[in-house]
Amino acid sequence: MDVKVLKNYVDGEWVESLSEKSLEVRNPATTEVIARVPLSSAEEVEKAVQSAKKAFQEWRETTPYTRARYMFDLKILMEERFEDLAQIIVREHGKIIDEARGEVRRGIENVEVAVGVPSMMMGYNMEDVAQGIDETCVYQPAGVFCCVAPFNFPSMVPLWFLPYAVACGNTYIIKPSEICPMSMDILFELLDEVDFPPGVVNLVHGDKVAVDALLESPDVVGLSFVGSTPVARYLYTKAAEHGKRAQCQAGAKNSLVVMPDANIDQTVASIMTSAFGTAGQRCLAGSLVLAVGDAYDPIVDKLLDAATNIKVGDGMDETVQMGPVISKKSLERVLSYIEIGEKEGAKLLLDGRNIQVEGYPQGYFVGPTIFTDVSPNMDIACDEIFGPVLGIIRVDNFNQAVDVIHESPYGNAASIFTSSGKWAREFKYRVEAGNIGVNIGIAAPIASFPFSGMKDSFFGDLHGQGRDAIEFFTERKVVISRWF
Ligand code: NAD
Repeated sequence: MDVKVLKNYVDGEWVESLSEKSLEVRNPATTEVIARVPLSSAEEVEKAVQSAKKAFQEWRETTPYTRARYMFDLKILMEERFEDLAQIIVREHGKIIDEARGEVRRGIENVEVAVGVPSMMMGYNMEDVAQGIDETCVYQPAGVFCCVAPFNFPSMVPLWFLPYAVACGNTYIIKPSEICPMSMDILFELLDEVDFPPGVVNLVHGDKVAVDALLESPDVVGLSFVGSTPVARYLYTKAAEHGKRAQCQAGAKNSLVVMPDANIDQTVASIMTSAFGTAGQRCLAGSLVLAVGDAYDPIVDKLLDAATNIKVGDGMDETVQMGPVISKKSLERVLSYIEIGEKEGAKLLLDGRNIQVEGYPQGYFVGPTIFTDVSPNMDIACDEIFGPVLGIIRVDNFNQAVDVIHESPYGNAASIFTSSGKWAREFKYRVEAGNIGVNIGIAAPIASFPFSGMKDSFFGDLHGQGRDAIEFFTERKVVISRWF
């Protein structure tokens, strides 16, 4: 198998990085090296910024209708390469092919929503704010924006931002995760085919050096970051220091509350995909079940039964239900948390360690793992493990469940399973989390809604996707006029 050496895409051209630093990209199921990704220098980043800056003036003067047409073309090309995009995600990330297809679909939906830019970017006005004076608010593009992406949704996350930014008339730079950089390679083949004017869309591979360079460049207006909380906090602060707007989506520890009146079978099916889908490496993954009262015993029995039957393996096999975690480092981290849970006194109901996947002796596999008798102050209940480890906490009542959720510093997602409208209403009203599920295991907002997040799960005010994206990627200019 050829090892592809990835290139940057700057000023409408594929360019080899001159950096001497690079990393191997491995397929986490087979552990074979599938690519080398360059760690670009600050100078290379600045070249991309200057290309984007140069392209901005002409691009902002195109009509929103023209820019929407580019999005139509991108959508069509993405549909044509749908399966290639999905397969590359499986190879670089390890998630199962159906999840990868779902990821590509979610990405395309953002392109579709951005097609609506001619109406979404309309301003508003009022006559006679004083006699003979009219006032208008116009939405204008702001300049060069960038995205710094995480490994876990390597194709979808950059598409939470790029389509809106570019459709609004800005120019753009993507810095993909250096762990999963290959799906952006395909996306940029498509962007190249769409034939954006040089400099409108740019791709720079790298690590912290490249990210810092983006934030330190005076010509970058704003950052969209998605990744872990410590990095989000650091970048949000750094963006402010350099006078940039920033939206930083961060880590999570999401709870799934099961009320005694929940439909247990449907609830178990939802919890399974939430906790073990993408091997638990979703920011919306449910990693704690808060079982209220009588819900505890049946939910424990049925989750054990369902999780025991999950087929673990290479995500390219259509019959497999859970792939590996992303890396050796991640595997070691997950295994260490299983040990921590045991030491903390939780009961290991299902142990995913020492799983053997035939034909993949080296793969970074860990099977579904379930702890019961978890208490809210244990590390396994507080920390984002980012692997297929589910903790079950027994709580006496609804209020106690809400208290446990609120003790967490995170506020990304929370779900309730119930057949009572009263509890569902109370939950959505009170719970401090940006994405709320009612009988939904993965509370993922569709493209026309903001992907929310609160507390340590989000730094900023305007979120990604939907109307928030239009606000984030524009300046609002107010024009007050009087004619004599
Ligand atoms: P990460 O924070 O390690 O890396 C994310 C990006 O930041 C990468 O592109 C990386 O190159 C860059 N980076 C890493 N360290 C940096 C530093 N010190 N300075 C500057 N840049 C740096 O995150 P990850 O492991 O790739 O992704 C998993 C995390 O992302 C989890 O915590 C998950 O919850 C979170 N996530 C959140 C959301 C959300 O919407 N809230 C969505 C997806 C993932």
